[in-house]
Amino acid sequence: METNYSRRSLLRLAAMTPLSTAVLMNAFQSRALAMTGEAEKSLAPDTGTGPHSLAPLPYAFSALEPFIDAQTMEIHHDRHHAAYVKNLNDITGKTPELKGKSAEELIRNLAEVPEGARMTVRNNAGGHVNHTMFWQIMAPKAGGVPSGPIADAIKRDFDSFEKFQTSFNEAGTKRFGSGWAWLALGKDGKLSVLSTPNQDNPMMAEYGSLYPLLGNDVWEHAYYLKYQNKRADYLKAWWNTVNWNEVNKRLEMAQKA
Ligand code: MN
Repeated sequence: METNYSRRSLLRLAAMTPLSTAVLMNAFQSRALAMTGEAEKSLAPDTGTGPHSLAPLPYAFSALEPFIDAQTMEIHHDRHHAAYVKNLNDITGKTPELKGKSAEELIRNLAEVPEGARMTVRNNAGGHVNHTMFWQIMAPKAGGVPSGPIADAIKRDFDSFEKFQTSFNEAGTKRFGSGWAWLALGKDGKLSVLSTPNQDNPMMAEYGSLYPLLGNDVWEHAYYLKYQNKRADYLKAWWNTVNWNEVNKRLEMAQKA
């Protein structure tokens, strides 16, 4: 009964929205498999044969409720992020020049990636780096106003935390289609807000090789189940999940680099 109801809900949602049917069917299949006891084996994310791997989410899928719902977190981590890792592993298997390099090294030096593999690496190593950071810079019982060095740096470069938030939210709402909003540190020691399309990352040379401190995923897969077309509402709610301790750690790392 529960399964039928879930399936009906998903199909109704599919009819109302442009969200891909494949995503919804994945969600449906996850539930169906969980009910048949096949869950453990069948739900393991498929990330291919390595060398890149998907770290487990550092908290429960439901830990960021009510700001981000459990189903979105599960699909996002176990399906979308896993797919970036699998695609990166697949291209690495076919391209000897990519072996022995971390995903970060690859996106910092895209010009060195053989041309035939470059777009696949850009999208999938980018996706892997972006999402690895994303899970870490969020946490349960987080959010609020930052403290420590990041708070001082934000005040110095944006006048106030509120002005920074407005600028960051604008970067996210104005990004047409899929992409990310970022807070990044430049080589001059200054913070800036930017947005990138697709799975691009501020580390890429064309954005000035910035170091990303904080990023929000504004792909529809990050928010559509709960917020539908209301991206601005998602951007606003997302601040309740920001793990400022981790952002301070990233600032410290960036300053040492
Ligand atoms: Mn994503």
